[in-house]
Amino acid sequence: MTTHFDVLIIGAGAAGLYAAIFAGRRGRRVLVVDHADKAGKKILISGGGRCNFTNLHADPKRFISKNPHFAISALKRHSQHDFIALVDRHGIPWHEKKLGQLFCDRSAQDIVAMLLDECADAGVALRLECKVQAVGRGEPGGFTLSTSHGTFTGDSLVLATGGLSIPKMGATGFALDVARQFGLPIVEPRPALVPFTFRPDDLARTKDLSGIALDGTVRCDGVGFREALLITHRGLSGPSVLQISSYWREGMPVTVDLSPDQPLADTLKALKRSRPRAELKTVLAELLPRRFAERLFEAPVLGEAPLVSRPLADMRDADLATVAARLHGWTVQPEGTEGYRTAEVMLGGIDTAALSSKTMETKAVPGLYAVGEAVDVTGWLGGYNFQWAWSSGYAAGMAA
Ligand code: FAD
Repeated sequence: MTTHFDVLIIGAGAAGLYAAIFAGRRGRRVLVVDHADKAGKKILISGGGRCNFTNLHADPKRFISKNPHFAISALKRHSQHDFIALVDRHGIPWHEKKLGQLFCDRSAQDIVAMLLDECADAGVALRLECKVQAVGRGEPGGFTLSTSHGTFTGDSLVLATGGLSIPKMGATGFALDVARQFGLPIVEPRPALVPFTFRPDDLARTKDLSGIALDGTVRCDGVGFREALLITHRGLSGPSVLQISSYWREGMPVTVDLSPDQPLADTLKALKRSRPRAELKTVLAELLPRRFAERLFEAPVLGEAPLVSRPLADMRDADLATVAARLHGWTVQPEGTEGYRTAEVMLGGIDTAALSSKTMETKAVPGLYAVGEAVDVTGWLGGYNFQWAWSSGYAAGMAA
């Protein structure tokens, strides 16, 4: 039996549910299908279980895309403030953790429950554990979905199946496959917001330091992020590293300024005057995590040779400046990343050139829409990716 809906949405994640709410509120008959046994699974695990659902500073400049202007319209039409207003209407308690990042006080479940309540209010039908076997054009128009729950037809079809990150949770390249089927261009996808891995020789020098958190500014390709970084048993992680991974390409070096607030050469020269007998190793262990500082004298962690410890009085200012320069510009050469296994998002996706920035409808196939992570718009770490899901979902929901 074939059942007809006005709008078919594939993917009951953040963007798909949000599009469904607004299409449903407009009186459209909406069906959302998902192969998972639960809606919003990524929302549930996000933000350490508390869902960093948006960011107060969700400015278009904090999104990466081949077309950096594409996201402006959707983010403006449905902003972080619109989403916060919805969260407030549902009485969900939240707090700002840092840098404008808003988290649920209780649990990410609050956000999923809110989306499902809104969908129910808007009369949206939801089919879980529903496998989509084929997507086709209908006769005379529209779309046909052949699924494990039967065949559905719709005037519009919204692709909301997200990206490739965390395949263990059911992430697939489905949206990209359908895009290819309809001849839409794709920006090469790759994992982002992902830890770096080191080559075995570099790893040998840092592996036993795993767990040490450093404060620094991490830079690559002209972009820098100042936040914590973490040495891991595979390489480097932590917020600043995840952020820079979105700008990194194979073979690029990454530099870390381990003293972003103070010019270290000045500090060391001042210490040479006030504590001339103090050893370089002793003072660096006061300025950096001790175990990390000690390792700088044992192995070439900063590249070249290990540092040599002497009383500051025995070191020329030029020597101190060299040490400072190495700490301001620790250069690491990642071998790669941990890949989609741990990446928070997929960079790239359906090329925005194929889409209307106002409605997310594809230009070549009227009635076909793409939203959320499947589209080549990727946010920084910190609630930006959910905001893109809400904003792009709203744009499609108001048009489909
Ligand atoms: P998704 O939320 O991934 O939804 C896609 C849906 O499509 C899923 O329900 C999936 O089951 C379904 N689907 C996939 N393939 C098929 C198929 N073939 N057939 C049928 N259904 C299919 N972003 C933030 O802004 N803040 C955070 O705190 C945050 N934390 C994160 C933590 C982790 C561990 C991860 C992995 C990501 C995190 N993100 C966070 C990113 C955020 O989760 C995504 O950007 C966002 O969920 C994208 O929304 P979406 O609706 O496009 O895709």
